[in-house]
Amino acid sequence: MVNLAAARERLAAVPDPEIPAVSLVELGIVRDLRATDAGLEVVLTPTYSGCPATELIADDVRAALAEFGPVTVTLQRAPAWTTDWITPTGREKLQQYGIVPPQCGSAQAISVVPRLRCPRCSGAQTEQLSRFGSTPCKSTWRCIDCGEPFEYFKPI
Ligand SMILES: [Zn+2]
Repeated sequence: MVNLAAARERLAAVPDPEIPAVSLVELGIVRDLRATDAGLEVVLTPTYSGCPATELIADDVRAALAEFGPVTVTLQRAPAWTTDWITPTGREKLQQYGIVPPQCGSAQAISVVPRLRCPRCSGAQTEQLSRFGSTPCKSTWRCIDCGEPFEYFKPI
């Protein structure tokens, strides 16, 4: 029998390839981990459907769990992932990493430009520079107080 608790612990340590400060579990991408006759099955719900990191994430998960036997990665696209699934710990780590976490419950208001505080100096004077940052999931902002750019993880 596979040691599911140990496998779960190992899975919880796999970082997101785009934001290594946050784990896949903290991002809310991991839906399930279960033992099957064939080994382990991990169910993932990818974030933004256009995110090219999905294959990379599946590879990372397979590699992390390889010692537990064969690993099947299943992608479950419905219900769709939403930024509301990011755990409180995940949100904290995003903020520390310099990315403003998605504003809670604002998924409906995606077209509304939010008022963000700078993750570095907490300054309230910020402006959006670009709707798209290093990935389509984020937008680029600048703090007028400290002049530093930062990214905002857009809610969906
Ligand atoms: Zn600032």
